[in-house]
Amino acid sequence: MIYTPEKYSIPDEKMKPFIDKNEILEILKRTESPTKELVREVIKKSLNKKRLSLEETSILINANSEELINEIKQGAKTLKEQVYGQRIVLFAPLYVGNLCINNCKYCGYKASNTSVKRVTLNEKELIKQVEALEDTGQKRLILVYGEHPKYDPEFIAKSVKTVYNVKKGNGEIRRVNINAAPLDIEGFRTVKKSEIGTYQIFQETYHIDTYNDVHISGIKSNFDWRLTSLDRAQEAGIDDVGIGALFGLYDWRFEVMGLVRHVNHFEAVYKVGPHTISFPRLQNASGLDIDKKHLVSDKDFTKLVAILRLAVPYTGMILTARESSKIRDEIMEFGISQIDGGTNIEMGGYTNESEEQELDNEQFQINDNRSLGEIIEELVEKEHIPSFCTACYRVGRTGEHFMEFSVPGFIKSYCQPNAILTMVEYLEDYAKPELKEKGYNMINKKLINYTDKKFKSKLLERIEKVKKGERDLYF
Ligand code: SF4
Ligand code: SF4
Repeated sequence: MIYTPEKYSIPDEKMKPFIDKNEILEILKRTESPTKELVREVIKKSLNKKRLSLEETSILINANSEELINEIKQGAKTLKEQVYGQRIVLFAPLYVGNLCINNCKYCGYKASNTSVKRVTLNEKELIKQVEALEDTGQKRLILVYGEHPKYDPEFIAKSVKTVYNVKKGNGEIRRVNINAAPLDIEGFRTVKKSEIGTYQIFQETYHIDTYNDVHISGIKSNFDWRLTSLDRAQEAGIDDVGIGALFGLYDWRFEVMGLVRHVNHFEAVYKVGPHTISFPRLQNASGLDIDKKHLVSDKDFTKLVAILRLAVPYTGMILTARESSKIRDEIMEFGISQIDGGTNIEMGGYTNESEEQELDNEQFQINDNRSLGEIIEELVEKEHIPSFCTACYRVGRTGEHFMEFSVPGFIKSYCQPNAILTMVEYLEDYAKPELKEKGYNMINKKLINYTDKKFKSKLLERIEKVKKGERDLYF
């Protein structure tokens, strides 16, 4: 199925574009210079686990004194402690193909870049990549595809099935998420049948003039087709969707408002917000062909992530290896729920013998080059519990981000014990002796906090079973 411009009709009432540029600009202007009391009131509302309105989000955006910014960050940290517990879910991206018909000014894979080697992994190559990832202990992948007629719904569905079928030793992939081009409703239905997890499509920028400027040609240059894409996914039954903005294309304040507006839209129409929000940030690079005045400083970036945490307390937040380990460590404290580890975005990169990634062949630059083992070790040292948990999706506990937020004890009853069980699997199957020791020390410390004796004995029983060779046990 080839996606042609004739398919750009937006047939359903619900799928009307919902971003009003002037409304966002007007709210940002109206809430300029908020009082301290007002900012504190908004933080307090969020700490009561209430999603913020556009106006309230804008009040936090416009809080500019050091004192208030620190309070916003502290609020995000408190919320993390109250809602998210200490587990961090780990995943890896896997690029399936970098053919692309679009010309996005900011992307190394744009069609006009003829110096890029265009590759689509065949079945055998895909299996090899997955085996290499399983060898490191990964259990969750996000498959990434360029936008090209070759990557039609059948192709995507087939590659998902291939990935699920790869089993090596105790290795298996238990959840496959997708980052690919928008499809029509029928296309999303086809992909859904392959039992994908989240379908992720980032709007890149919610500011239409900037969008039109940076998306020069190709299907992606149609703002509305992309904006309404995850509505079509919802119509097709994919209720687990991920949104995101590429920070640095336009004013970060506007993009934060765009993301929150997108969340509001989903809640109003589908009664469930997006599963995750991502916030990749453009880094300054000599080849970057855009107006660089909107590149986001570390200071603003940490502030905006804290604001997003407060604005949508129940939505998972993904922080990728585009950011340095220093920034990742700081922002992790604001309630990030997922990070990638051991990331390689070069085509076929997970089996590449070379230590150096070929920069010309990457979509963007990775700034956290630590291996999965190194990241796990650091998480353990900082008292986070690395998790490969996929339990909810497989037992039909959907909307789990909402449960995390709304059901007291959800983290304690599910996320944390499942994180511990997947961590024991990792320690038994993949960890070096030193990490194994550190990992079990950390787990023993966490176990002390379980006061419910009945539950604790169930958990201990399952830990023993995993140590003896059983796999994939969860609550
Ligand atoms: Fe193609 Fe995506 Fe890159 Fe745009 S961002 S050029 S659609 S790969
Ligand atoms: Fe995610 Fe559910 Fe596992 Fe918690 S228990 S980490 S919500 S899959």
